[in-house]
Amino acid sequence: MIGAQQYRTHSCVGAAEAVGQTVRIAGWVHRRRDHGGVLFIDVRDRSGVLQLVIHPESAALLADAQRLSPEDVITAEGTLVPRDPATVNERIPTGAVELRVAELTVLAEAAPLPFSVEDEHTQAGEELRLTYRYLDIRRTTRLRALELRGRVVKAIRGILEAEDFLEVETPMLTRSTPEGARDFLVPSRLQQGAFYALPQSPQLFKQLLMVGGIERYYQVVRCFRDEDLRADRQPEFTQVDIEASFVTPEDIQQLIEDILVAAWAQADIALPTPFPRMTYAEAMRRYGSDRPDVRFDCEIVDWSDAAAASGLGVFGNVVAAGGVVRAVVFPGAGAALSRKDLDGLVQEAQELGAKGLVWAVPGSDDALRASVKSEFLGGLVDHLGANEGDLIALVADTEHATQRVLGAVRTRWAERFGLIPEGTWAPLWVVDFPLVEFNENENRWDALHHPFTAPRPEDLGILDSDPGAVIAQAYDVVMNGLELGGGSIRIHRMDIQKRVFGIIGLDAEQAQERFGFLLRALELGAPPHGGVALGLDRLVMQLAGERSIRDVIAFPKTATGSDPLTGAPAAVDAPQLAELGIRSLVPASDAARDGN
Ligand code: ASP
Repeated sequence: MIGAQQYRTHSCVGAAEAVGQTVRIAGWVHRRRDHGGVLFIDVRDRSGVLQLVIHPESAALLADAQRLSPEDVITAEGTLVPRDPATVNERIPTGAVELRVAELTVLAEAAPLPFSVEDEHTQAGEELRLTYRYLDIRRTTRLRALELRGRVVKAIRGILEAEDFLEVETPMLTRSTPEGARDFLVPSRLQQGAFYALPQSPQLFKQLLMVGGIERYYQVVRCFRDEDLRADRQPEFTQVDIEASFVTPEDIQQLIEDILVAAWAQADIALPTPFPRMTYAEAMRRYGSDRPDVRFDCEIVDWSDAAAASGLGVFGNVVAAGGVVRAVVFPGAGAALSRKDLDGLVQEAQELGAKGLVWAVPGSDDALRASVKSEFLGGLVDHLGANEGDLIALVADTEHATQRVLGAVRTRWAERFGLIPEGTWAPLWVVDFPLVEFNENENRWDALHHPFTAPRPEDLGILDSDPGAVIAQAYDVVMNGLELGGGSIRIHRMDIQKRVFGIIGLDAEQAQERFGFLLRALELGAPPHGGVALGLDRLVMQLAGERSIRDVIAFPKTATGSDPLTGAPAAVDAPQLAELGIRSLVPASDAARDGN
């Protein structure tokens, strides 16, 4: 271990190996217990906790030790001895030993803490914990999550380096890279009125690196997207960004499988390989999601034809208008639900965007409890293969809306009703995404991934005539319903890139103005290339068993994008703004509202 022996010869946990030796450790006073004159102090460092013992014979030492407060920083030397067998603690790695202290020095005193750093006592609210994030990080769960993150990154680098990928840094102050979010802007002082954008991803630079002959690039890189925040979003987040020349989608997918296997191995989990492939169309049809959780069934089943003939007006009308009626069965989930519970589910579905939801629960002897008269549901139970006590959820709407609603309730309710097996890992690739999707609000096509994604060569003929039917050479890797990453083969021909810009509504002039540098590069010898980016925060979150990416980021932001620790974002002085050629429309007192 590095570090002057002045402070420590061993880590707390490492000391357990040194029975009979003189050992010096350093760390924080975790707990103190007075047992009739014998004082026990648990000292904690990153490795864990070691018990120090001070016997009454050493009166001066005892007096010093009695003055210690929780979280004081100390160094102590003594002899490492086995514990009395009656006091051995099997649950911790140092539970069979203790340090008989001969000398103890306080390196720093700690004032009373705003909250306990012991894992069991974490009542403190998030705002307070983020204000004192450095204390929150002292908690074992936080430390272990950050350690896991470090190990995962190291393992990923190991795979990439072994495959001859070169880490290259790309600019943070740049122009917009469209990934579908709002840009964070940085005003230029030297060119007043002009702004840099923080990168939403290094997408364009990594492609330019391919034109530059780098052939295999990666970067563990921060990306910035100004979006409304959710549990798995932060304004800045980290990607493992990858690009390679002369590759097929299968090459990239194999690399990512190797990477994820290595990452999961850091948590002693063996992932099943190869990852199955599912087309986007199939994922939407069967699971109502482009990131299906395939750990459990509850698949979406069509019942449109029978529904149209059932005699229930709403079903008939929807199907006549070109819509569909589809169902999901939640095995065993209906038996214990009261009428009120079931009505609550309808309301929940409505909040998720459903116009309505019909529920049914088969009973014994062909009886059917349902939210509509059971005669309208003739044949349904057999069609679905449902059993007594199952919960059936039916939605009638356009195909798109039905998939969306049933996809959302499928995962929510499967979780609520305990239908998702614990400890299973179900990775898969979703492939064959459409190149573009229609944006009803703006009345134009949007790129589904980003506008640099290559169409399948066989679809080039219909690119202009039927863009909605064009399939992209894009792929997403999904784990237990979470999208861990995605990528594509890129367009490496200038003429095709121009056509795709045209489809998404950029005229030649706009395309030139925003992406002229890319179009020019594509004229100057661009190799076929493709890549992928993994969301590191999400990946580690999932591996660490956490529910929010904030738990695996050392210094995350709150849901309003602020950092209670530093007070960012904060108002700045008028002179500083003037230097940038900027005047704020918001009074400084209001601007500082969230930050401070
Ligand atoms: N740049 C893309 C993203 O951030 C990933 C990729 O296409 O490689 O999602």
